[in-house]
Amino acid sequence: MEHISLTINGQKISCPPETTVLEAAEQHGIKIPTLCHHPDLKPVGACRLCLVEEEQGGRVMASCVTPVAQDMAIRTDSARIVKHRRNIVRLMMAEHPESCLVCSKGNRCRLREIAAQMGLGETGLYPMPNGKPLETLNPFIVRDLSKCILCGKCIRADHELVVAGAIDYHRRGFKSRPATLHDLPLESSTCTFCGTCVSICPTGALSTTLSGYVGTPEREGVTTCGFCSVGCSLRLGAAGEHVIEVNPSGVTGSVNGATLCVRGHFAHDYLNSATRLTGPMIQKEDEMMPVSWEEALDTVARRLLEIKKVHGPQSIGFYGSSKCTNEENYLFQKMARTLVGCNNVDHGGYLTPRTALQGIQERTAGECRINRLASLEQAEAILVMGADPDQSVPVLGYHLRRAARKGVPVVGVDVRKTDLSPLAETWLCISPGKDLEWIHCLTALLWKKFSHDPAFIERFTQGFESYGESLSSFNPERLCLTTGLDMRVLNHVVDVVKGRKISFVIGHGITRQVQGARCMDAILNLALMTGSLGPGGGGLYVIAPENNEAGAWDMGSVPDALPGRIPLGEASGRHRFERAWRVRLSPDQGLNVLRMVEEAEKGNLKALYVMGENPVKSLPQHDRVAAALARMEFLVVQDILDTETVQKADAVLPGAAFSEKPGSFTNMEGRINCFQPVVEPPGESRPDWEILDRLGQKLGNPQPFGAVSEIREEMVRLIPQYAGLADISEGEWTWIRPLEGTRLFSPQGPGDRIPFSSLEKSEYEAGDDAYPFTAVLGPLRFHLGSGTRTGASKRIAGFD
Ligand code: SF4
Repeated sequence: MEHISLTINGQKISCPPETTVLEAAEQHGIKIPTLCHHPDLKPVGACRLCLVEEEQGGRVMASCVTPVAQDMAIRTDSARIVKHRRNIVRLMMAEHPESCLVCSKGNRCRLREIAAQMGLGETGLYPMPNGKPLETLNPFIVRDLSKCILCGKCIRADHELVVAGAIDYHRRGFKSRPATLHDLPLESSTCTFCGTCVSICPTGALSTTLSGYVGTPEREGVTTCGFCSVGCSLRLGAAGEHVIEVNPSGVTGSVNGATLCVRGHFAHDYLNSATRLTGPMIQKEDEMMPVSWEEALDTVARRLLEIKKVHGPQSIGFYGSSKCTNEENYLFQKMARTLVGCNNVDHGGYLTPRTALQGIQERTAGECRINRLASLEQAEAILVMGADPDQSVPVLGYHLRRAARKGVPVVGVDVRKTDLSPLAETWLCISPGKDLEWIHCLTALLWKKFSHDPAFIERFTQGFESYGESLSSFNPERLCLTTGLDMRVLNHVVDVVKGRKISFVIGHGITRQVQGARCMDAILNLALMTGSLGPGGGGLYVIAPENNEAGAWDMGSVPDALPGRIPLGEASGRHRFERAWRVRLSPDQGLNVLRMVEEAEKGNLKALYVMGENPVKSLPQHDRVAAALARMEFLVVQDILDTETVQKADAVLPGAAFSEKPGSFTNMEGRINCFQPVVEPPGESRPDWEILDRLGQKLGNPQPFGAVSEIREEMVRLIPQYAGLADISEGEWTWIRPLEGTRLFSPQGPGDRIPFSSLEKSEYEAGDDAYPFTAVLGPLRFHLGSGTRTGASKRIAGFD
């Protein structure tokens, strides 16, 4: 495409035709003040501050909405333009209340900044305060619309980025302001309290509810949200050693852009909770006593070694966390395998998608893991199956809503309607437990209508012939009868997705059900048949509730695989780790967390090391789990909060939250985010990697790591998928890499082909007379998982 040539302030500039004058100026270092402009929003030219003048003819125009034209000559700083801008700012200031000294936007208020840059103090106008009542009813957002300059950013962010439609302009002229439908309080509207409007507001009209004025953060740092698997990029503001403010980082290419959700924006006040653990403790004569780190670690090491000596390594279990970093999970499983000598390692993700994803991992060798959420907005068709992203992973929900708005056909399949259903092209409500039937039904119908992708099948798959044969034997009409669906609606869905690459968004409704693994197998078959994998389009977007479930698995924090997801039974992979770690590793699968509880009940598991999990609350049958833990000879809990499990511990080791330590998380897209601490851990608490490293020495490790960078070096050496970590710095990200020799979708041609799996029959059984109901579990927008961290947030508690 030919570039356009123009001059701005006499400087010759060349840029693509669709560029606006404002963008062209910014790209060449020429600053134009703006208040209503944001790179992620459609320009509207509302504030008029970005006015510029055409040299020939003197036409004055808003640069944010004016496209460049060939041979244009623009002045951004003529006397006329500067006068116009000063007058606009003077009028805004005359209307603005004089509460700058205690405004939480403080010296970051864009209006104040621009006025200062223009040398404007006194306006020379009569004050015209536009008094509005302060709205402070909800625990998240304070609205002081007397400070609103009507830039419309909050409304546009709500409509264009979050697609919630909670606010719009209300009234006209001087009385105009953003308001909810019928001008109700935010808490009575469709507002989800994502806080995007707060971050994007250029003045103090919208701010975060705080218990008192805390001023401007002393420093800021970019990190990754520690809640869900979207892994949003955050900018944390800190004062002293407290995080006082959370905003989207604004880093180009981040998964969340200018948005966050209510948890990311507001629930991080749990970091300052009074229930934070601040020092190590040991149970002495039936009482928890504070002790030094040396004593705590000596005791833990001594007890673990004693139990190992008397009962053997299999009597000890290690329950790690998908909330901890990759480096910590790597150390955790290494400690279990090399220093204690068992494979009894698991993490909190066991009860979530891992078991359902095992088959996909085996069939594709992890080749289909990179699926960028941003690609959903360019998808050809999206199938949302058993997922409620608006509640579980809200930023993924925004991507889906934007896709639907752009005309991408979104088909939802669930046992109930969710917040996404009004935007969907079609919404299918199926009977509980009938997902496998409906997936088979859709696949068989597509096959019958010749809607498969022969080129993809030929190039990348194997076993289609026999799979196609078994599909032919299906009778979709009969199958459909069992699903509670109408055949006409199903045929409509077939017409919608036919010939398109499908992006599959898969949630707890699939992965957490009894038939999860079968359903995932069937979905992969459907994806292969329609050519919906790889760089050509489509993909599997499997929602993991917690932030680092993928990373914990990659690091080998599981009972059946080593780092890099190498199955324990695979001799060559195991030998590689044996050589690197200089130990013999057992090829036998260890205990998963449920088996650990069962073995504890039987008295076989004598000790458990829990890191960053709260099994008494997060596992089903709380009382049973509590009783099993009570039978243990020794329970170590390493955590940041005083949880129900901490209450049962013999030794408590206080860890650090994500904002207080360096590390990396791997999100659901396959993106590895690296981060640095923004504040120090409270009291004597220490980063989990450091605790593990020091404890490792006491358990007999002669070579401690001493730094996260050293752990990473070993990870890069031993886990090829994480080789990209070597090339990036803190605050940056890299992507999971495919394994050498399995570059399935590389331009050099396919490696191993992905096999079709045989069609599995459904084994779902409806309830009997004793248990006649089927529980349909779902996530909550305001809480994550069992709510251990979000439950410690005062703001979330104030809304519950
Ligand atoms: Fe954090 Fe997930 Fe919300 Fe993003 S969507 S802010 S990662 S909880």
